[in-house]
Formats: sequence, C-alpha cells, structure tokens
Amino acid sequence: MTEHFDVIVVGAGISGVGAAWHLQDRSPDRSYLVLEGRERMGGTWDLFRYPGIRSDSDMYTLGFSFKPWTEAKAIADGPSILRYLEETVREFGIDKHIRYSHRLTRAEWSTAEARWTITVDKGGEEVRFTCAFLFMCTGYYNYAQGFAPEFAGAADFGGRIVHPQFWTPDIDYAGKRVVVIGSGATAVTLVPEMAKAAAHVTMLQRSPTYIVSRPAEDRFANWLRKVLPAKAAYGVVRWRNVLLQQFFFRIARKKPEKFKERIINMVREELPDHDVGTHFTPSYNPWDQRLCLVPDSDLFAALRSGKADVETGTIERFTPAGIKLASGKELEADIIVTATGLELQLMSDVPFAVDGKPIIWAEHTMYKGMMFSDVPNMAISFGYTNASWTLKSDLTAAYVTRLLNAMGKRRLRQVTPRVAAPVEPMPFLDFTSGYVQRAMAKFPRQGTRKPWRLNQNYTRDIMALKFGGIDEEMEFSNPEPGAVRAA
Ligand SMILES: Cc1cc2nc3c(=O)[nH]c(=O)nc-3n(C[C@H](O)[C@H](O)[C@H](O)COP(=O)(O)OP(=O)(O)OC[C@H]3O[C@@H](n4cnc5c(N)ncnc54)[C@H](O)[C@@H]3O)c2cc1C
Repeated sequence: MTEHFDVIVVGAGISGVGAAWHLQDRSPDRSYLVLEGRERMGGTWDLFRYPGIRSDSDMYTLGFSFKPWTEAKAIADGPSILRYLEETVREFGIDKHIRYSHRLTRAEWSTAEARWTITVDKGGEEVRFTCAFLFMCTGYYNYAQGFAPEFAGAADFGGRIVHPQFWTPDIDYAGKRVVVIGSGATAVTLVPEMAKAAAHVTMLQRSPTYIVSRPAEDRFANWLRKVLPAKAAYGVVRWRNVLLQQFFFRIARKKPEKFKERIINMVREELPDHDVGTHFTPSYNPWDQRLCLVPDSDLFAALRSGKADVETGTIERFTPAGIKLASGKELEADIIVTATGLELQLMSDVPFAVDGKPIIWAEHTMYKGMMFSDVPNMAISFGYTNASWTLKSDLTAAYVTRLLNAMGKRRLRQVTPRVAAPVEPMPFLDFTSGYVQRAMAKFPRQGTRKPWRLNQNYTRDIMALKFGGIDEEMEFSNPEPGAVRAA
C-alpha cells in the first residue's frame, strides 16, 4: 500500500528538523513525514567525525529561531551540535515523524493527481509514498564521496591516506607526522587539533585563505543569559550577530583592499615570525570565497608553538615517504589527510520528473532561493554562503507553511513559479572556489531580478519571505475536486 502525506520532508539534518518544526507549528492540520536516508539524524553533524569537528559560525545564528542555544561556547563542537538537534526532535515530538534508512531515489509529479509519487530505498527494499508537497532538505554535498583529486604516486605512499569525510575512530595519529592538504575550514580545524597529539602537522596549501580568529565563547551572550530569560537573551544575541555579520560583509564588498589589509595585519600580529605574505595573503578579495574562522586563535597558537607549520606549494607527487612538491621540497609523513573539500550536489542527484518529463536543473531558475521555475509543489532548503545556514532554512520553512496555508484557503492544489517577464540568468553561487565552480554547470541558475534573485541577505529575505506577497510570478492552480463541483 502506498502511504500518502500532505508534506514529505527529505533529510533530517538542521534543515529537515527546522522544516518539521515549522510544519507542525504553523500548518498543524497537515500530515507530514521526514525521510532520512541514513540510520541516524543530524546530517552534517553526525556524518563528520574528524578531530576537532566544529561549527565555523556562531550557534546563536546556526541554532534554530525557536530553540535557544544555551551552551557556553558560541563556536561549538560537532557532538554538541548533534546533541542540540537530538534534543530538538525529542522536545517537539518531531522524532515520531522521522523514518530512518529511507533514501529518496526518484520523484515524479503528476498534475492530474496533484501529487508527487516518490520512490524510496528502505534498507534495500523499494517502497513508494505520495505527497502533495515535497520539501527537499538534503543539504548541498555528496554524502557518498568527498572531492578527492588524484595525486600522482598516491599508491606508492607507505602511510595512510584519509579523507576527513570518512574519518574512523581507529585512525591513530599520536606521535605521527601528519600532512593536511587544504586550507579551508576543515584543514584549519584539523591542524591545531591534531597538533596536540601528533609529532608534527604540516598544513599544505596550494594557495592561502583569509583566516580570522574569534573568541570561542561569547562573553556578552553568556552574561546576558544570566540576567535575561534564555529565549530573550538568545534573540538579542542572534540579532546582534546577524547585523554585525552583515555590516562586515558589506564593508568587505565595498572596501575590499582596506578589509584585506585589516585581516592580514591581524594575522601578522598573531604570527610575527611567519611569512604572512606567502602563506596568509590570498590573491582574491575577501568573500570571493568563504572566510575561515578559527576559535581563540587556535591555529595561530599551534603554528607559534612549532608543533605545526604551513607550506604553500603545488604537489608534484606522493612518494613512499610523503609528498614531493613542484619546488623540489619533500614533506615526510606517516599520515596524509586530504582536506580537499566536498563534492557539491543538489538534492543528492535524485532524478525528478514533472508529468513524465525529466527535470534538468540547469534549465530552471531558482525562485526566492527555494523553488524552481515550472516545478510545482516543491521547495528546497539551501542556506546562506555568507552567514549561518539556518537563518535561511528557517525563513524557507516558514515561507513554505505560508504557501501551504494559502493553497488550503484558496482550495487550490498546485503552486508553480512561472517566469512572467524576461529574466537574465546568473550563476546559482558566485564564489570563485574550485568546489563551487566545478558544480555550477549542473545547478539551476538564479535571475538578476526579484523574485528570481538569491538575496544572500537575512534582513532582505525577512522582508521578502515573511512580509512580502506570495503571488509574485507564482501560479496557484489545479482546484480541489470538491471546489470545482461547488463552483
Ligand atoms: C564540516 C562542516 C562544517 C560546517 N559548518 C558550518 C557552520 O559553522 N555554519 C554554517 O552555516 N554551515 C556550516 N556547514 C554547512 C552545513 O552543512 C549546514 O550548516 C547544515 O548542517 C546543513 O544542514 P542540512 O540539514 O541542510 O543538510 P545536511 O546536514 O547535509 O543534512 C542533509 C540530510 O539529508 C539526508 N539526505 C540526503 N539525501 C537524501 C536522500 N536522497 N534521501 C533521504 N535523505 C537524504 C542526509 O542523510 C542528511 O541527514 C558546515 C558543513 C560542513 C561539512
């Protein structure tokens, strides 16, 4: 028998849990189900197990709007974030709606029936569900594999090669020489953490990244929690952080040279004896790629201590003893960690079809950063690249409930974004990073004007999604059978 739900949410990470909360809070009459492909919830915060795994944005904005973050650390470790998510699903009874080991493999929309029929891999068995609205909360990268460039001579290396996405507890690096390849958020997390036990850690990067230190604990927030109720304190700190982040982002875009100089000078103060020009001065402007945040200067402290160092250069090949650089220099290693990044992926590459026609996402334009032109009754949760993911996923979920409630009131079963006037296409994301550029050809585009433009700005999105209209270039159609008879 095929089970039917009003809404099916796919994915039980931050976005899926937030979506579930909004559905039951704002659209309580609708039935919903959360399908999670893995055996556990948490998504990113359960999958990644490498040493030191932590957020790189503050938990006052990475946390949900409806559940205060009350731990002392604002830059939190992975297990604490996972605990917060587990607590959320228990506290709000969301856990009863999640089915684990249910991986979506196919989705087909039928206008005649006004529903999606989805195929799900339930631990090897193929099962089907139907739903009126499909809410994709599957994150933005491939869970099955990370980005792993092929290095010449990798098979010759005598030690162990590890990708951080697949870290296992048996990886023992105590007293070992480690080379971490990469300069992104994962590399700057791994290096100081591994340096605590390893004999030595080298961060080997092809090119530098902007690195900024912030206190792990937010003293103002911790004080405010003592004098105000948790919810009020959380709201104040959340807004302060949103506005500060937007302020700094705007300055970085308006005065890139000045902003760049300020960041580099801060690194110089941290590392007076290092070659900051070579290792910490990127060729691009701040926010052309994601900035890396380190808590309490931990990376700089590891570098100052001599337990870690940084090398900037191109890999020629792996050797039995380590890595040979194009400069001729050799780095000896027992363990090589390839922190070379994620493979960006939209909706876990599941094939979609509308009335029998397969969807090619690159031919569709994103609507308000959550739906797609000509694709009915489907939304995706995709967070900000320049601020905490949850800020946007929260607004997206709230907007979806607005749409659902409007459909209910109007007795219309279908909502489809339709481009009503010419819209210039733009890439979905404008980061220059390799992992973004590699993926963009398969991604939908955004447009240069409303409502097809991705705002990447929380306050602008609040105005558009919370207070703005829902009819802009949105077609409400497909009357309920009863409504047709009544008319
Ligand atoms: C190491 C790391 C650190 C990060 N730190 C930050 C940070 O500090 N701040 C920030 O804003 N962002 C950060 N991010 C981005 C981060 O992924 C998001 O903030 C957030 O966790 C995304 O939540 P999500 O629920 O949308 O996606 P995910 O956490 O990726 O969860 C998606 C869920 O969907 C499930 N799923 C996928 N495909 C299917 C399918 N076909 N069928 C059923 N289930 C499926 C997955 O199993 C998973 O449980 C980080 C990412 C990484 C990798």
